[in-house]
Amino acid sequence: NPFVRAQYLLAAHNHRQLPPDGGFEVAFAGRSNAGKSSALNALCQQNALARVSKTPGRTQQLVYFALPPYEDRFLVDLPGYGFAKVPKDLQAHWQAFLDGWFGSRDALKGLVVVMDIRHPLKDYDRQMIGYAVNRGLPAHALLTKADKLGRGAAGNVLQAVRKELSGAYGDTVSVQTFSGESKLGVDEAREVVARWLEL
Ligand code: GDP
Repeated sequence: NPFVRAQYLLAAHNHRQLPPDGGFEVAFAGRSNAGKSSALNALCQQNALARVSKTPGRTQQLVYFALPPYEDRFLVDLPGYGFAKVPKDLQAHWQAFLDGWFGSRDALKGLVVVMDIRHPLKDYDRQMIGYAVNRGLPAHALLTKADKLGRGAAGNVLQAVRKELSGAYGDTVSVQTFSGESKLGVDEAREVVARWLEL
């Protein structure tokens, strides 16, 4: 598992704080509480890796995790959507930074969208997938907390979401069931991310 040595590197709220744009990065997005931190922890087989992303003040930062021994490969945790009460001007700065980063970061190779399997494809999820596809990046959706549904029900959601996404985006967007709790689908997700990072 190339992610076991993952470690917190930095949190950036402007472009000067970013590593040089020459490597390989995969972004993780999801609504607050979707299960993104748990998914990152499961991928990296660590209990508290993504806890750092939850610190107050990190709601407007890109959190970079390094993957030693590689110096140019990163997992990037995007702030969860759905809170962030902040002054208007700050918010504008943050939005501009995030848009710029997501829209033109060369190192960005793919987007993982984490969705609660009981509430898939909300507006924010669709928007993120649309942004990725629009700039030619592949996206991979994790339908997480699959342990909360029976196998049959989870399979039905998977089929419906897959049908919708492949109808709209073809092979550019893939989807799987996942659970940070039971570890369902962790290997599959890891393979996708490792491929994008050319690990
Ligand atoms: P984040 O806000 O997207 O980072 O979400 P967290 O990873 O912190 O998870 C939010 C809540 O959902 C926590 O109470 C987790 O324990 C729970 N959770 C996350 N993933 C799973 C899962 O796969 N199965 C179950 N049953 N609960 C989960």
